[in-house]
Amino acid sequence: MMTNYFFNEIFNNISESISVLDEKEQTLFVNSAFLNFTGYSQKEIVENNKNLLSFTKQNYPNKYLKIKKILKEKKLWEGNLWCENVKSNKLLPVSCKYSLIENRGKTYILEIFIGIADIHQYKKHIKFLKYYNEFLSVPNKNFLQKKIKNETKSKEKFSLILIVLNNLKIINDTYGRHIGNRFLQNFSNNLELIIQKNNGLIFYLEGNQFIIFLHTIKKEKIISLMDNISSELISKSITIENNDIPIDAYCSCYIVNFPEDYLSILHKLYIAIEVAKKEKNKNLIFYESKYKDQIFTRFKIETLIKDAIKNHKFILYYQPRVNFANKIESVEALIRIVSDDGSLLSPKIFIPVAEESDLINKIGDWVFNQIIEDSRYITTKSGQNIRFSFNVSASQFLESDFLHKLKNIFKFSQDFPSLFEIEITEWALMKDTKNSIKKMFQLKELGFDLIIDDFGTGYSSLAYLKEFPVNFLKIDKSFTDGIPNEPKTVSIIKSIIYLAKQLNLKITAEGVEHVEQFNWFKENQCDEIQGYYFSKPVHKDELIKLLKIYNKPSENKKYIKWEEKFSTGISTFDSHHMIILNILNTIYEKIHDEGVIEKADMRQFLDMLFRYIDIHFKEEERYLQQHNVPNLKQHINEHNEFKNKLKYLKKSFEEGKGNLDYELFVILKKWFKEHILKYDKSYFDDIND
Ligand code: C2E
Ligand code: CA
Ligand code: CA
Repeated sequence: MMTNYFFNEIFNNISESISVLDEKEQTLFVNSAFLNFTGYSQKEIVENNKNLLSFTKQNYPNKYLKIKKILKEKKLWEGNLWCENVKSNKLLPVSCKYSLIENRGKTYILEIFIGIADIHQYKKHIKFLKYYNEFLSVPNKNFLQKKIKNETKSKEKFSLILIVLNNLKIINDTYGRHIGNRFLQNFSNNLELIIQKNNGLIFYLEGNQFIIFLHTIKKEKIISLMDNISSELISKSITIENNDIPIDAYCSCYIVNFPEDYLSILHKLYIAIEVAKKEKNKNLIFYESKYKDQIFTRFKIETLIKDAIKNHKFILYYQPRVNFANKIESVEALIRIVSDDGSLLSPKIFIPVAEESDLINKIGDWVFNQIIEDSRYITTKSGQNIRFSFNVSASQFLESDFLHKLKNIFKFSQDFPSLFEIEITEWALMKDTKNSIKKMFQLKELGFDLIIDDFGTGYSSLAYLKEFPVNFLKIDKSFTDGIPNEPKTVSIIKSIIYLAKQLNLKITAEGVEHVEQFNWFKENQCDEIQGYYFSKPVHKDELIKLLKIYNKPSENKKYIKWEEKFSTGISTFDSHHMIILNILNTIYEKIHDEGVIEKADMRQFLDMLFRYIDIHFKEEERYLQQHNVPNLKQHINEHNEFKNKLKYLKKSFEEGKGNLDYELFVILKKWFKEHILKYDKSYFDDIND
């Protein structure tokens, strides 16, 4: 066991000044370095309670309060302070670290500091800080500004790339700032390595923004460097304390061909970034002059929102959420502003601006009232009871009178059975989980169903999932985009689905655009999809039409029934026709009872159909030839035309295009109703006569 003596020896032999204070900030212990550095005697320390913290309290009270606050929250504070030396009567800069230590139920403050050499070196350090970011050890925006000035003076041409780390805020919010900081450091170090290899420079602008300076103005070179950065860094994730955190970044580039000042250059980089964000385009976006007009300024948007509130210019569009039997079970209300020219302004533009002020609550109130009115209209006109979901943003959800407001606006009654679902982003729920859970239970009690929106983007909420009283998870479009080709996304989604099933939650896949995605989600036990594949958000009258088409009552199923009139009088051909009819009805039934038929199944049915039609046509044609029927050529032509149609359908099916199920049905139906009645039957009748 180590002795006190041994510890004393250690403490007194290190160059850092150390003191230990109790909870009341009374000095309990100081080491030799402390005595040397401050010039105090042991006696003074005991009698006058000397330590760096008490010195700071006396001379820099604001700094002292800050330290105490941070120490209370994080148990750690690091930074630079001034320390007096009583012998030389000088103030010396020190780099200091405070930590809170718990031992046997008591709390102690550990104070460790070291002088930042002499004042001369300190001044150098201050100068360094003016041009460098100390935390990341890369040049900062002052340096960039100077660099641009110098390059412009010497009439050099150059390019700048702006990289904005899109998810830094979310990382800070979910994992805490210390992880966010390490993420930033890690990213910065890696970026620097890549850039140095390419004779560039990196600068840290602020927050989540980096600038790359390049001496080249050749687009191909810039693109190839960016490809490098993407493949070596941005497409990967950074692991910190066992958390795999993906990098999510937007990048823009501006080629500086003519002398231009710093602010104007930066402005252009930001404009291009806005375009990238607007289009959710994660590729490098080169600034173009036309972008300038495209980007609304914040001020303009605020004015637009205020005008929309005042002059009733909002409208709700509805996007169907469909199950795999192609039935619309619910719709999501999505708000738009109707501009004076009739065009619609996307919520992606105005909701984020509204969220920064009280405007979001005004918009929210409008949405609540409107969805009640619209849902009555849609339910009455379509004769169907579907569910309606609407979005609630984080700031609305966190408002104290949110529940009260909903309760007053939505008065549930017997004669109004439609069900409302509230979509809250995973991100909003994670801001204050305890409070969120409480609110969610209250919402359930009011009769709302709950959906977690943008699921998968908030990282750490999986653990909370079992505590959230939600009905649905909505998988974010950014994941759907990676289906079915990105193995990483596939495995994430599979585990989300697995987890959801364990917790009895239903799953919606958002942003489904292609048949491959649709099929993948169907095969992987997702419950419903939402996306352009089925329908874009539509006007309420358009929705009513969709409801009438897709949610037909089941007795309206249009099977083709075998009827006496189809009989040719020749049993071989009749049985061929019946088999073909059966295949057709089976496909149709499968589509309507189980949703779109699986590709493998469909392929099997198609092969069967082709085989039969081939056999049937060949035999029929031979028979007709033998019996010398008139217009034989025309009849055979019809057969060939029909076969070509099927071939074309098969090809587009293999290429994943078109709605094969439906088209096949139409073609076969036509054949039965027209060809058999017009050609087969009349000719056979002729022959039979
Ligand atoms: P969100 O809640 O994630 O809504 C889904 C967005 O994805 C909608 O954009 C929708 O039109 C779009 N989308 C759906 N399927 C596809 C697809 O297959 N491909 C593509 N590219 N996009 C698809 P929208 O209508 O522009 O809404 C954007 C966001 O604005 C919404 O994202 C939501 O966060 C917010 N928002 C919309 N309406 C309201 C509202 O009434 N209140 C609040 N607070 N936010 C709203
Ligand atoms: Ca939503
Ligand atoms: Ca989403």
